[in-house]
Amino acid sequence: MNRLIYLDYNATTPIDTRVLEAMMPFLSTNFANASSLTHRPGRAAAAAVDLARQQIAELLEAAPQEIVFTSGATEAINTVLKGVYERYQDKGKHFVTCATEHKAVLDTFAYLEKKGAQVTYLPVDQHGAVDLFQLERAIRPDTVMVVLMWANNETGVLHPVDKIAEITHRHNTLFFCDATQALGKVRCSVSSNKIDMLCMSSHKLYGPKGIGALYVRRKNRRIQIAPLIHGGGQENGMRAGTLNVPAIVGFGMAAEIARRELAEESSRLAQLRERLEMSIINLPATFVNGQLGPRMPNVSNITFRHTKASEIMIAVPDIALASGSACVSGTRDPSHVLLAMGLSAEDAHSSIRFSLGRFNNADEIDRCIAQVAGAVTRLRTNSPVWQLYQSGAIE
Ligand SMILES: *Cc1c(COP(=O)(O)O)cnc(C)c1O
Repeated sequence: MNRLIYLDYNATTPIDTRVLEAMMPFLSTNFANASSLTHRPGRAAAAAVDLARQQIAELLEAAPQEIVFTSGATEAINTVLKGVYERYQDKGKHFVTCATEHKAVLDTFAYLEKKGAQVTYLPVDQHGAVDLFQLERAIRPDTVMVVLMWANNETGVLHPVDKIAEITHRHNTLFFCDATQALGKVRCSVSSNKIDMLCMSSHKLYGPKGIGALYVRRKNRRIQIAPLIHGGGQENGMRAGTLNVPAIVGFGMAAEIARRELAEESSRLAQLRERLEMSIINLPATFVNGQLGPRMPNVSNITFRHTKASEIMIAVPDIALASGSACVSGTRDPSHVLLAMGLSAEDAHSSIRFSLGRFNNADEIDRCIAQVAGAVTRLRTNSPVWQLYQSGAIE
């Protein structure tokens, strides 16, 4: 009866069996190097990489030549931020980003600031939204690039990327979008907007870990990025190193499945999420973060006031949940995303991220509701802080 209920899909997803099947031949019989075009297995590996590139391009409505494989989104982010900083010094050293970005963006900018970059961190409102007028005012003549994510990993809040792309182009600055979470959950097209660069990660999309990609627009604008990794000249000199063929094949298949099943999967997940929130929200002093604006269908970030998230999670050992994001948990700092949305440190420490995915069903959600509601109620009954809250002594 105590089978694990996995509700941490934003940290990582299991590999879809269809993805694993596509990868298997390249882990065993065909192990050739995709650059070895002098023999048949090498050419077969190259063809498999070409197909994957096309599958990923189709998901984005981009051209295959615009896709560069990396080891993941973190590497793609490092490549763009450091590579653009190096190549565009003539234009300036100023960047605009946001307080709620992923740590891969914030930590790379912190590093570049030590090297002389100037970075403006836009705030968000209580719903996690950026103010587009504020964005426009932050862009200066020496602003090289604006970096804003498509969807937030902790709250699911979506940024209006089409409008952001429009603004950045009007001011002649580059726009780089971290679409790692959005991909496969909402439609992510680069054909209908002016996004210049975008990063993604296979393991957030039911593909294997250790593979990701960068989209770099080829049409209309020539974008220069100094490579992070030098060597054999693979990926048009943008990212050297022998291609990880099985992982690339898996990523391609994952993208293909995401494209075919996105609409159906999104509405199914939205229903499950609704089921979860409608029940959980009946607990007193409990609220959903980022609920009012546009949001991804699979995430619910919930604050249980005066109740520690860490204690709730210990009390429901058969449910895999997260507070903050996987990348920063392990530290005891409250979520920088929730703090930026105006939550107190105490409320941030009382917040749990439920992230749903492909293999969840309604029965699991019902068991989750029962277990979490039971745990929260029990913890509160024994809590002096909760008694103070109930007596009206604290808010
Ligand atoms: C997971 C994640 C990353 C990092 O991706 P990796 O491929 O694991 O390096 C970056 N940005 C966001 C929004 C993420 O959710």
